[in-house]
Amino acid sequence: MAKRDYYEILELGRDASEDEVKKAYRRQAVKFHPDKNPGDKAAEEKFKEATEAYEILKDPQKRQAYDQYGHAAFQQGAGGGFGGFGGFDLSDALRAFMRDFGGFGGAFDDLFGGGGRSRRNGPARGQDLRIKLPMTLEELATGASKKLRIQRLVDCDRCGGTGAEPGHAAERCPNCHGAGEVRQVSRSFFGQFVNVSACSRCRGTGQIITHPCTVCRGEGRVHGATTLNVKIPAGAGNGNYVPVSGAGHSGTHGGPPGDAAVLIEEKPHDIFTRDGDNLICEVPISVCQAALGDEITVPTLNGDETVKIPAGTQSGKIIRLKNKGIPHLQGFGRGDELVRLVVWVPTRLSAEEKQLFKKLAAMHGTKPPAADRSFFEKLRQTLGV
Ligand SMILES: [Zn+2]
Ligand SMILES: [Zn+2]
Repeated sequence: MAKRDYYEILELGRDASEDEVKKAYRRQAVKFHPDKNPGDKAAEEKFKEATEAYEILKDPQKRQAYDQYGHAAFQQGAGGGFGGFGGFDLSDALRAFMRDFGGFGGAFDDLFGGGGRSRRNGPARGQDLRIKLPMTLEELATGASKKLRIQRLVDCDRCGGTGAEPGHAAERCPNCHGAGEVRQVSRSFFGQFVNVSACSRCRGTGQIITHPCTVCRGEGRVHGATTLNVKIPAGAGNGNYVPVSGAGHSGTHGGPPGDAAVLIEEKPHDIFTRDGDNLICEVPISVCQAALGDEITVPTLNGDETVKIPAGTQSGKIIRLKNKGIPHLQGFGRGDELVRLVVWVPTRLSAEEKQLFKKLAAMHGTKPPAADRSFFEKLRQTLGV
């Protein structure tokens, strides 16, 4: 399939500024992001296409080459000098998006399920790390800075990550002459085929380590630990993650490290249930408080608040405390706290209380108006059932 014009993909004019390129890409990427279109292959293609266009147009040098030679500038072996831009896959696209626009909102499993893509040629990139971070609702409401001690594979000190024992540099692989790949030409009835595969002798690295490092046994990396400083913005929640680029495992034989992502896990709260940026809590009131009205104390994330309940409050009534919820992650303002009043009916009555309830029962006005449909409709609405 012929490649579409990069400017056309991003719906830009040829004279678009760098800022316009960025904005246009963001618009497209958010629209076609795999998170928003789970399982939609067409959207995934558009996301990859837009990201590829962005990677070229945001870079002045590449953009100039593209303006001059078109897609030919990036084909393997072309004179443009940017060969090897083919095979742009989804994890590359997601990584590019995450690098420039942060990771909130997405595609975690797509990105980290697949792991780092190893280059056929040369040292391999380290694997990505996924770190779970349990947080309380209070921390998420204010945002928090956390220091995380993580276990990861780090560059070996002895060999500096090369895998070769000091004094014995790695040698060029005699099988592939350092290319890391071998080409086999086969002829058939249909013509000539070139089959390229990773060199088995050096496993695609192009180098043979004659004297492996005694500490890492030639891998170039060892088990270690690092401290990660991460800032969790206010309003984050379950499933959000903070990307920390380059904080994953070290690559093999001096390859670049993978990325880390800190995945937030919200701890359950004793009082509040979170619903988006709103908080829900149930507060019991007595039959008398419900009938006569009262002032009650309700918990909020910032301490107790006094709330007036009107006379004749029905069980299930919701009182909305504006802006007492969780801050919105993107943008200003915050959610509300929804206090659900539940009328508590006494289970054990003294003789005197029993007398009083009997007296009330005898009075017609204390019975629910069975004939009044609107009352039950209203109740149903309040309860949300
Ligand atoms: Zn080789
Ligand atoms: Zn080593």
